[in-house]
Amino acid sequence: MTRLKPEKPRAIVIGAGPAGLMAAERMAAAGLRVTVFDRMPSPARKFLMAGRGGLNLTHGENFGIFVGRYAEAATALAPMLDQFPPEALRAWSAELGEDTFKGSSGRVFPRSFKASPLLRAWLRRLDAAGVEFKMRHAFKGFSPEGAAVIHDADGKVVETEARACVLALGGASWPRLGSDGGWVNALQAQGVDVRPLRPSNCGFEARWSDIFASRFAGTPLKPVTLSLGDEHVRGEAMVTAHGLEGGAVYAMSARLRETIAAQGSCVLNIDLRPDVSTEVLAERLARPRAGQSTSTFLRKAAGLQPVGVALLRETEPEKTRPTLSLATADPRALAERIKQVPVRLHATRPIDRAISSAGGVAWSECDAGLMLTRLPGVFVCGEMLDWEAPTGGYLLQACFATGYVAGGAAAEWAMRERVVTD
Ligand SMILES: Cc1cc2nc3c(=O)[nH]c(=O)nc-3n(C[C@H](O)[C@H](O)[C@H](O)COP(=O)(O)OP(=O)(O)OC[C@H]3O[C@@H](n4cnc5c(N)ncnc54)[C@H](O)[C@@H]3O)c2cc1C
Repeated sequence: MTRLKPEKPRAIVIGAGPAGLMAAERMAAAGLRVTVFDRMPSPARKFLMAGRGGLNLTHGENFGIFVGRYAEAATALAPMLDQFPPEALRAWSAELGEDTFKGSSGRVFPRSFKASPLLRAWLRRLDAAGVEFKMRHAFKGFSPEGAAVIHDADGKVVETEARACVLALGGASWPRLGSDGGWVNALQAQGVDVRPLRPSNCGFEARWSDIFASRFAGTPLKPVTLSLGDEHVRGEAMVTAHGLEGGAVYAMSARLRETIAAQGSCVLNIDLRPDVSTEVLAERLARPRAGQSTSTFLRKAAGLQPVGVALLRETEPEKTRPTLSLATADPRALAERIKQVPVRLHATRPIDRAISSAGGVAWSECDAGLMLTRLPGVFVCGEMLDWEAPTGGYLLQACFATGYVAGGAAAEWAMRERVVTD
């Protein structure tokens, strides 16, 4: 005879970011008793930080193009994004009282441009669904029996007996918000293949002179087009004391990072006047200088900002090109240089300042429901998985979608276990 146990089976989630909370919501909806653990004093700190920039939840472009943004991980993520696509995320946000809109760039934001009202409404709904939160509880690894080991704030081991465990521990960027990639060793100790966590959507180091760095750190270069090989990105870059960062740099970060890893450094070409052709620029630069200083002439004739003029000077001694004198150069050569300023980048900025992480749990370690095949009953989701994407809403969308899939599969797993036979 088959009967059901009377009590609700228990499931745990470790990591209260967007991926973990989505998994918790799905498991609670399926009738599980869910406890969420997190090492921080309050949930979803990185999500709240994302809200400071307007909370770009997802993107409204054509779904095929959208999925392609995940590059090498597109094939693995496509089924997850199919189950929880951008429209589902927008509907979910609206249900929580935060209608969304699509901006002119296609990026989707909540009308309030904030994460806090959405998070507050979400936590209320999770509470009403019976989800229990245990903050200041840290994941430490696995017991010899394969159960998650969690310590409370006093370092005491807490009971984690559960039918399913979802790990949603994030990547390694902005560790002060809770995710530091400390889980990597714990999973590797279980034989799980974890690809090294690397900075993504990050800044890069250029060796500026002290004068340039002190005068122009914090100055935007816009609009510019950045080029590396056949990849071109138009947007904004920011000069920092250490090099370059900003939207257009982040968008190229995967390619820049991998080129530097392979070659030791790389030359990023910056077009300082993307809206003006070389011919028109050369024509303007052929006008008489009429006693103007080089800086004034370049500002007036070529429309360069002071930071642009300084960047031309800063990159003059670049070894890969012939030195070009701004004062005497032929107009055509000068125009070509303005359209292609070579900046040598030597390294990524450290991961703790990156927006997100590349690397993580290899897809080959997971089944279609994101269960680790080496650890039956343990599921993974969010930035822990091996994918990366540019900014534009792709990061949160993949976290929500993988949380949705892992939570659904974990609920099914736990419920299947619930049927017992006498
Ligand atoms: C400044 C900034 C702005 C951003 N803006 C956007 C944006 O506008 N749009 C977008 O799509 N993305 C944005 N992102 C990225 C996005 O916030 C992340 O990709 C997303 O939060 C990752 O979700 P997650 O649930 O996988 O991990 P996280 O949000 O990192 O959550 C993981 C949780 O696990 C907990 N944890 C980690 N280790 C342990 C442990 N050992 N024990 C217990 N708990 C642990 C952490 O405390 C944390 O609460 C931004 C990121 C940053 C830093």
